[in-house]
Amino acid sequence: MVSRDVTAEETALRAREDLVASVSHELRTPLTSIIGYLELALDDDRLEPSTREQLEIAERNAIRLRELVADILAVSAASRHGVGFALQPAPADLEAIVRAAVTSVAPRAAAQGIEIDASAVRSCPTVVDAHRLRQVVDNLLSNAVKYNRRGGRVTVTVDREEDTVVLRVADDGPGISPSEQGRIFERFFRADAVRNSTVHGSGLGLAISRDIARAHGGDITVATQPGRGSVFTVRLPHKEGAASWSSMS
Ligand code: ADP
Repeated sequence: MVSRDVTAEETALRAREDLVASVSHELRTPLTSIIGYLELALDDDRLEPSTREQLEIAERNAIRLRELVADILAVSAASRHGVGFALQPAPADLEAIVRAAVTSVAPRAAAQGIEIDASAVRSCPTVVDAHRLRQVVDNLLSNAVKYNRRGGRVTVTVDREEDTVVLRVADDGPGISPSEQGRIFERFFRADAVRNSTVHGSGLGLAISRDIARAHGGDITVATQPGRGSVFTVRLPHKEGAASWSSMS
């Protein structure tokens, strides 16, 4: 048996995470102000079209930066608290969460000629942190669209399998190479194929999604074949207590 003192490494890791968290936090306030003023400026009807276009580009990028900061804060919070996210579970229907996420990604999908099939999403009342779960669905759907080819197809399903709630997001895009499949849930990991492409990302979405699924007592897995697409499956333990909710909604 070999034992090794890893206190120094642990301390360094913790210090780095603290730094990242406080820098991200400090970035949030000025970013909110930048986005607010850009919105105000864009409200002006007298803007020249070229000025409007430049402001819109600035706004798009500021919003991307805000999303990145939010992602970094989420992962550092999860790793500092060890147990993951502080969830706020409440009765919710997974169908409603998924349908709202599909509606929000629809314009981006349409722009790439991608069809999203949500016809097999059925009502699934359970107890989850709806806000966090929406983040998971948003991330899986947005990946299925952004890494897909033009004219691709995305299928999303929600089902009950005994005591488990199963959400699947499948695409017929490029898939992920066998050597990289094991790494896509790592923080900041992006596959070689996308790293130098024009498809933006932080490599944090799947790490956050997995943290959220695990915080719910579930998990997320991927089945993929290069050239034949990917299927991401989220399994969560089904929790009763949603009957009155479902009859209300
Ligand atoms: P991001 O999308 O910000 O890069 P993610 O953590 O969401 O970060 O994904 C990590 C990596 O996994 C992506 O950079 C991409 O290489 C790969 N990936 C994720 N979803 C898909 C998908 N549906 N099809 C192909 N590759 C994917």
